[in-house]
Amino acid sequence: MEELKFCPKCGETTLLWDGEKKWSCSHCDFVMYQNVAGAVAVIIRYGDEILFTRRNQEPKKGKLDLAGGFTDPKESAEQTCVRELFEEMKLKIDASKLVYKASLPNVYVYKNIPYNTLDLFYEYEVDSKFAVQLEQSEISETMWIKKSDVKPEDIAFDSQRFFFEHLY
Ligand SMILES: [Zn+2]
Repeated sequence: MEELKFCPKCGETTLLWDGEKKWSCSHCDFVMYQNVAGAVAVIIRYGDEILFTRRNQEPKKGKLDLAGGFTDPKESAEQTCVRELFEEMKLKIDASKLVYKASLPNVYVYKNIPYNTLDLFYEYEVDSKFAVQLEQSEISETMWIKKSDVKPEDIAFDSQRFFFEHLY
């Protein structure tokens, strides 16, 4: 973020990055924040098995991921869960059955830009193993993995790895 030098308001090369979340200009009154983004991860569980997806795109292509994604403006975390599960898997869920588990920070790097997120973890229990219609742009496959067989090193993101190692 420190590579951005030009102030988008006055055009001078006086844009300063604070190293965490804020740009400001020393020549004019321009200030802009890159605040933490909300995101959800859903543990879809059938008995002792969890549904994982395999990422089909960068970052972390080929690694295991949970269903989920970034919260849109004006959306609740539960609405994000409902929308993402439908977008990714065409799965229609009952939001009242989502069980909140924990929150963890993560850094999601997309096209060399790091986005700090706060990942909210929800569990969703299902009555049967359903067939997933894959959205090819984001997921290459899905698989059910026994909780005891989940290998942390196969998991794409630090927050999810920490969750399975320490909180679940
Ligand atoms: Zn300026």
